[in-house]
This record gives sequence, structure tokens and C-alpha cells, in this order.
Amino acid sequence: MNEKSWLARPAAFFAGDAKPMAEAGAVAVIGLGRFGGSLAVELAKHGVDVIGIDSDEAVVAEYADKLAHVSRADATDEEVLRQLGIDDVSRVVIAIGSDLEASILAASRILKLGNRHIWAKAISETHAEILHQLGIRNVVRPENDMGRRLAHLIRGHISDFLPIDEDFVLARTTPPVRVSDVPLASLGVRAAYGVTIVAVKRAGGSTWDIADRDMTVYADDEILIAGHPREVEAFSELDKDSDG
Ligand code: ATP
Repeated sequence: MNEKSWLARPAAFFAGDAKPMAEAGAVAVIGLGRFGGSLAVELAKHGVDVIGIDSDEAVVAEYADKLAHVSRADATDEEVLRQLGIDDVSRVVIAIGSDLEASILAASRILKLGNRHIWAKAISETHAEILHQLGIRNVVRPENDMGRRLAHLIRGHISDFLPIDEDFVLARTTPPVRVSDVPLASLGVRAAYGVTIVAVKRAGGSTWDIADRDMTVYADDEILIAGHPREVEAFSELDKDSDG
């Protein structure tokens, strides 16, 4: 959708009646760089009504056909944000990284407008700290998170790794020999290793089943485990010695 249809379509939006859009779960993505751009396109692919905002005309033109609404605007301008209905969208993502001042200003203006459903990208520890201090709870650091994830993947025993928090992760791996071939109930996996086997995908199967006590996992299954990163890592490496 081009700039013209963005302006034409949401007349009610500019008139202050942004409720229908908000109820439908519209998400505003501010800053369509590599991170914000791919996030916005991914959301749109999943049917989310995305409003992309960027101050750069060339960037706006690039996303005109990929997102439902794209607007060229300075996200540090409170009046502009109000006109765009930022106070009424269900979620706002601030994906401005390198311009620290713009990121912080946009965050404080959006908070002032009353929207508390903000996710913000930070590019440094200090940046993250300031955003937290402003009151933004969802601060992401994509480079850091990806680095952590990759470190686990590269080591080879974990095929997917999702940090939920500093001290809690989900990981996809294969069952170590010592927990295979016997019902989970008889193993006491949590007591022995500090992790929980959450789900199982059978060899050749395409679905995940929630694990229960009566289930038996086999060496060629895949399992999803949850726990502290240190324990998840240790559990996934239980066969390391016998790997040769
Ligand atoms: P990435 O790694 O995701 O490309 P980055 O951290 O290098 O991001 P920035 O260069 O800070 O990202 O900005 C991302 C986008 O945000 C750019 O397209 C830029 O035009 C836009 N942007 C920067 N300042 C503002 C602003 N005040 N209002 C709206 N958009 C802005």
C-alpha cells in the first residue's frame, strides 16, 4: 500500500477514532531498519495490521508495498505520533538503534501519550538501562540475544535455543542415552539434572507432544527442555563423553 492509500484509508484514524484498528491488534513499528523492517514484514505475513513509520523517505518507499500502512514521520514529534494514533494501537515497537536520542525521545513521547505496550530495541547496555528507567519493560537487544543463541547452536548439542529470561531458556535437543528407553516417571529428570522435558517430537514425526510422566523418549526423538541455561547446556551434553 502506498503513501496515498495509507492517507486515504484510515480517515477515522486521523479523526481520532482509532479504536477499530486497535481492537484488531494494529502494531506500529517505528524505524524500518534491518531489525524493524524484517519484524514489520514478518508480522504482516502473519496477518497483523502493521503501521510502519520511518523518517527516511527512501525507506518508506521501500516498504510501501510490503506493509498495510507506511508513513514518513519523525517519531520524536509528539503531535505527529498523536496524529498517527500511536496512543491507540495495541503495540508499539521502537526499532531505532543507533540514534540514541531519537530512540529515547520517541519512547518518552509514546509513554506520555499513554501507550504502555511498548517494545524497544537497545544497542548497548546503557541504552537498555535508560529505556528500562523510562518504564519500558520489554527491551530487546537483538545482537546480544542472537549471539547467545548462536553460541549454543555452534557447540552442536542444541539445535534451537530460546532465551526466555537471563536464567530460563528453552532448548531443542536429542535425549541423552541415560534418559532414553524408560518412562520419564522413573528417571526423576528434574531432580537429577535441574531441567524439565517439556515436549517430544518422534523420529520422522511432524508434531510435538507435551511430555508427561508416562512417556518414554528414545535416542532418535527430539525433545524440548526448559531450565537454567547452565543446566540445559549440561543436560544436552550428557552424551558428550561417549560421543568420542
Ligand atoms: P538496524 O540494525 O535494524 O538496521 P540501526 O540500529 O542501525 O538498525 P538506525 O539506523 O538507528 O537503526 O535506525 C533504524 C531506522 O530508524 C532507520 O531507517 C531510520 O531512518 C529510522 N529512524 C531514525 N530516527 C528516526 C526518527 N526520529 N523517527 C522515525 N524513524 C527514525
